[in-house]
Amino acid sequence: MDGAASQYSDSYDVIVLGAGLAGMTAANILARDGQKVLLLERHYKLGGLATWFWRGKHQHIFDVSLHGFPVGMIKSCRRYWNKEIADKIVQLPAIKFDNPQFTLTTTFNRDDFTRLLIEKFGIPAETVEAFFNTARELTHYDSEQMTTRELFEKFFPNRPDVVRLLMEPITYANGSTLEDPALTYGIVFSNFMSKGVFTFQGGTDLFVSMLRDEMRRNGVDIAVSAPAEKILVENGKVTGVRIAANPPALNPPELGGRPVPRSPLLGKTVGAKAVLSNGNLLGTIFELVGEDRFSPSFIAEAKKVRLNNSSTQVYMALKPEAALDYEKCGDLLFTSVAPEFDAKLLLSKRITSRTYSFYYPKTRPGTDRHYIVASANANYRDWASLSDTEYAAAKEDLIETTLAALEKYVPQIREKLAFVEAATPRTFKDYTAHWNGASFGTKYEGLAVSRSLHKEIAGLFHAGSVGIIMSGWLGAVNYGMIAANDTEAYLTQTEEE
Ligand SMILES: Cc1cc2nc3c(=O)[nH]c(=O)nc-3n(C[C@H](O)[C@H](O)[C@H](O)COP(=O)(O)OP(=O)(O)OC[C@H]3O[C@@H](n4cnc5c(N)ncnc54)[C@H](O)[C@@H]3O)c2cc1C
Repeated sequence: MDGAASQYSDSYDVIVLGAGLAGMTAANILARDGQKVLLLERHYKLGGLATWFWRGKHQHIFDVSLHGFPVGMIKSCRRYWNKEIADKIVQLPAIKFDNPQFTLTTTFNRDDFTRLLIEKFGIPAETVEAFFNTARELTHYDSEQMTTRELFEKFFPNRPDVVRLLMEPITYANGSTLEDPALTYGIVFSNFMSKGVFTFQGGTDLFVSMLRDEMRRNGVDIAVSAPAEKILVENGKVTGVRIAANPPALNPPELGGRPVPRSPLLGKTVGAKAVLSNGNLLGTIFELVGEDRFSPSFIAEAKKVRLNNSSTQVYMALKPEAALDYEKCGDLLFTSVAPEFDAKLLLSKRITSRTYSFYYPKTRPGTDRHYIVASANANYRDWASLSDTEYAAAKEDLIETTLAALEKYVPQIREKLAFVEAATPRTFKDYTAHWNGASFGTKYEGLAVSRSLHKEIAGLFHAGSVGIIMSGWLGAVNYGMIAANDTEAYLTQTEEE
């Protein structure tokens, strides 16, 4: 992927820094439109949080964030990538819930939710209809003042079971809580629950390799293991990027990592008319650019931006002869042992809610293996200060408690296991440089800060998980397109001047 120094130019129209879904989408659109684009990625792989990894000498493959995304991904991939990529997106038909309040299976779309709310939860049809219409319309008018809690109280007072059904998957999907603006819930809910949950058939590895091929066809210069160290600014305008002398060590040999070739760009400065950062928003402002380059009022706003929560995951590969029971497990299973929905409990280190993604051979046609990934939301602070010994013990405990909880859905799981490993908020931080290992970037207020970077420094743009709307696979792709358009408008304007 990387190449000789001569493959790269001394300067570009745009340097996109970070090869997450937002960065890659922006790079692809800009290059397709004729801009000269360099894509820099600190990791040795493209994808950001949309990633996968191999274990056991290429015997087991795990997807990190391929659990489900909205139908809108098909249209976005077709528009901003290509038809072949869009055509590989398929629905996950069996979404299951199991908690002390209810156990059910759904196709996770409006019709099925309507049926369940009426038949299983006894809600009048007109209330369900009114709720769905309001949630959808929330995307169109400014209702930031109403919280999601107030929205639920309006339609389903004293119905914590209904709140759980409607809220738990969204909290899992983007870390939002009942105190977030109802508008943000409405957008995600309408997106997710209009037509079900979708996945990419072939796995994240195939998806990202197809994105890489498309970028290459459109002429993007790609450099992996090339971390941007500084975004250079002169007279209020970006002038380029300085690349660090050394990449982070992200492929430990004890986990089967092979030496990564050194990028010829390491330690170099590359010029650019515009820089689009796909790194963490706060990292971009405070580390890559530097506080002193912005106005005090902008920095005051940036300091108010809250990071979103992080995650833990347990990755399990079943032995070749072992299989999962589709009827029992489904595709995606939201479980909880908490009596009621509680966003704080969802983040607690004493995990009560786990979401299992079950991967069957259909996920990667041509293989016959079954995998499970258990995910839970988590606070970085619960993991950050553990000593090495405490950290190892906490990871072991995470694995043990997950296996114990999984026994209910996959009996004799321990005997069926060929491989198991855990990831924590620290893992996500190490691999993406996201402050606090945030799985979904920042909270809602990050969006305004992200969108106003270029008003502070000419030619500086950001795309990546901010707020609730611009996160997840679909949000990141769509934000990449928006930021590419802004960058393009800036480049056109500066050419005309
Ligand atoms: C455990 C987990 C499960 C998830 N499950 C789902 C799911 O089921 N469905 C869904 O839609 N979403 C899911 N998500 C969220 C989704 O993966 C992310 O929202 C999305 O992939 C983020 O894309 P992004 O473009 O914002 O940036 P990221 O993926 O965060 O990528 C940013 C990139 O920038 C690079 N970078 C940072 N700093 C530098 C630098 N200085 N120089 C060069 N490169 C740099 C990083 O290495 C990284 O590659 C999940 C996330 C996690 C953590």
